[in-house]
Amino acid sequence: MSLGEFELIARWFTQPGRRRDVLAGVGDDAALLDVPAGQALVAATDTLVEGRHFLPDAPAESVGHQSLAVNLSDLAAMGAQPAWALLALSVPRADEAWLAAFARGFHALADRFDVELVGGDTVRGPRVVTVQALGFVPRAQALRRRGARPGDGLYVSGSVGDAAAGLELLRGGVAGDAVASLVHRYRYAEPRVTLGMTLRGVATAAIDVSDGLLGDLAKLCDASGVAAVVQLERLPLSEALLGRFGAADAERLALAGGDDYELLFTLPPSDAAAIESRLAQFCRITHIGEIVAGRGVRCCRAGVEVAVEVAGHDHFAE
Ligand code: ADP
Ligand code: MG
Repeated sequence: MSLGEFELIARWFTQPGRRRDVLAGVGDDAALLDVPAGQALVAATDTLVEGRHFLPDAPAESVGHQSLAVNLSDLAAMGAQPAWALLALSVPRADEAWLAAFARGFHALADRFDVELVGGDTVRGPRVVTVQALGFVPRAQALRRRGARPGDGLYVSGSVGDAAAGLELLRGGVAGDAVASLVHRYRYAEPRVTLGMTLRGVATAAIDVSDGLLGDLAKLCDASGVAAVVQLERLPLSEALLGRFGAADAERLALAGGDDYELLFTLPPSDAAAIESRLAQFCRITHIGEIVAGRGVRCCRAGVEVAVEVAGHDHFAE
């Protein structure tokens, strides 16, 4: 690389230490981190491959944001408080404009959640970004996919389908103000960190919606050994999504589309009302269905079961 590897790391990926629990960060052989007593370390990693997880012409700033956001979303789904991140970056050349914008997107999100970048790796190759996010949660309070019980209410945060709509518009070459909010939802997902932490000890199960609501709900149900019934008319669909796509396509995108990074979670019926009003103070949440005994996911419209055929995303499915 024209700009040396070490210069590149120093320029874009080394910051003044911001967290006291980082005993050694970028610049040593490995990060040395102080995990608070009584807390479990929560670790997640996700890789973004150019052409597969982000479009080759995606703004680098959004790639930086997304690479961290998807990992913070996994921590949120465990109820964890994020603390640290590692970044393994493969780029074809030291493109200063691309790296500067990438770093801007990454650090802007990291700053908002007080996450310190404590290490990584930088190599030359096809554009591939792997981030690892680390955080902690009181041992007994971690949210899990398992734990949902028949009778629990099923909830989702925010709105669903917008990100998949944004991606579909980008792929179709549609741009402009009318679709900007949908494209923004795809590029700048908001990890539901505060919601996840608030659900500690409250939600019986949780998962983040990365691969599509029905596919991710099926994973939660499998892990919990239960079934779910989704009331389709209750799905939280944004005005932008409905306006652009109409009701039928909006519903398809909401159920099968990915990249929303909302939290899907279950609450016990006993204290659902009190919890709902507490959560609603800082995040829109919607009661979209119920957990029932059995296996699998069913959908109802106006009380009548309807067949919906959608598969979640699987990289290795043919
Ligand atoms: P080593 O050869 O011991 O693995 P490197 O020379 O590759 O270490 O990296 C030097 C330091 O810079 C290490 O602390 C490493 O974690 C950090 N680092 C390398 N690339 C990145 C990156 N893209 N972002 C953050 N830190 C990085
Ligand atoms: Mg070393």
